[in-house]
Amino acid sequence: MKAERRAAGVTFAGVRKAFGDKVALDDVSLTIEPGSFVVLLGPSGSGKTTLLRCLAGIERPTRGEIAIDERVVVGPSTFVAPEKRGLAMVFQDYALWPHLTVARNVAFPLQSSARTKQERAARVEDLLERVGIAHLSERFPNQLSGGEQQRVALARALAADVGLILFDEPLSNLDADRREQLRLEIATLTRAAGATALYITHDQSEALALADRVGVLNQGRLVQFGTPEDVYRRPASAFVARFTGVAGEFPVRVVRACGPDTVEVTLPFAPEAHFEALALEPAALGDDRHLFVRAAGVELNNEVARASVRGQIRDVAFNGRGYEHAISVGDDVVISKVFAHSRFERGAEVAVSFDPSSCFVMESEQEGKCQ
Ligand code: ATP
Repeated sequence: MKAERRAAGVTFAGVRKAFGDKVALDDVSLTIEPGSFVVLLGPSGSGKTTLLRCLAGIERPTRGEIAIDERVVVGPSTFVAPEKRGLAMVFQDYALWPHLTVARNVAFPLQSSARTKQERAARVEDLLERVGIAHLSERFPNQLSGGEQQRVALARALAADVGLILFDEPLSNLDADRREQLRLEIATLTRAAGATALYITHDQSEALALADRVGVLNQGRLVQFGTPEDVYRRPASAFVARFTGVAGEFPVRVVRACGPDTVEVTLPFAPEAHFEALALEPAALGDDRHLFVRAAGVELNNEVARASVRGQIRDVAFNGRGYEHAISVGDDVVISKVFAHSRFERGAEVAVSFDPSSCFVMESEQEGKCQ
């Protein structure tokens, strides 16, 4: 499928939005490259929707400037109406016209185009085929499942033939299977259409799977912007680490510097065990820090080695590919979601070891803790 039109770039410069005393966005600056798929990730109330709505023209920032390509759409003395910004939006609750058939909903953005009636009909048919619902073209929205309605909304956004598509948690009302399928289609069809995407979610696995770049928001501030790999492997703060999923977190002491950003640490409850980890912030010998461990970097064994610690299986759950375990170590620490192809039974004693590339030490900031 060839790209249909030129993708738009977006720039947010010092955007602030306050609702009375409540600061929803606090000095957000962000550049989105044309053609990229950017996902804004953050907990409820972090400002994701407000940022999207400011770009769409549904909210007006209190301060700052937003430009689409080189054109300022909102600034101190500028406000371009939403319908003149050259963007389309896919909403969480679909927002279809209830009195129009599927085909007419999708045709809606084409009304003002220069195409003939036949060309418009062919375009609608093509789009419905792309999103896999050509056979439903004469149904009304209330005769469709949630997943089918969201496909109509996606086809309508693509029909608008714009360089920028905004997605406001489009999968959050769908069940797990449909989410997975539609996520794949959103990713491939939006990229194939050559549009830039700005997508918001509070689901970290959705964000990491979809994005070329992830922006993490916390309390109205953009706290990290990078590739999914950067955000996962080198989180900018303990908040980002926790929000993107840690299996376990322990107090540790730094006992050796092993390289420019690698340290060796010990756990208070197992001083004989030494672990290597990435130091994402400067750490000196004797410093007390927190060790964060991603689930993929934890391994279970029957034998205790130098770089492992004793634990006890608290819970085991079959997930189709294998087993996910929760393990208690030390006094009261639980490591969760640890995958193994074979089953370790509840109550069994195990040795837990950590892959240094999935472990990092940082200072632990308590505010913003989200698990
Ligand atoms: P969610 O994932 O729950 O949708 P979010 O990250 O999208 O959350 P926003 O909806 O942008 O967050 O809200 C950011 C903050 O601004 C919240 O504290 C919210 O209560 C507040 N807020 C948003 N809209 C308004 C409004 N119209 N009036 C007052 N406060 C608002």
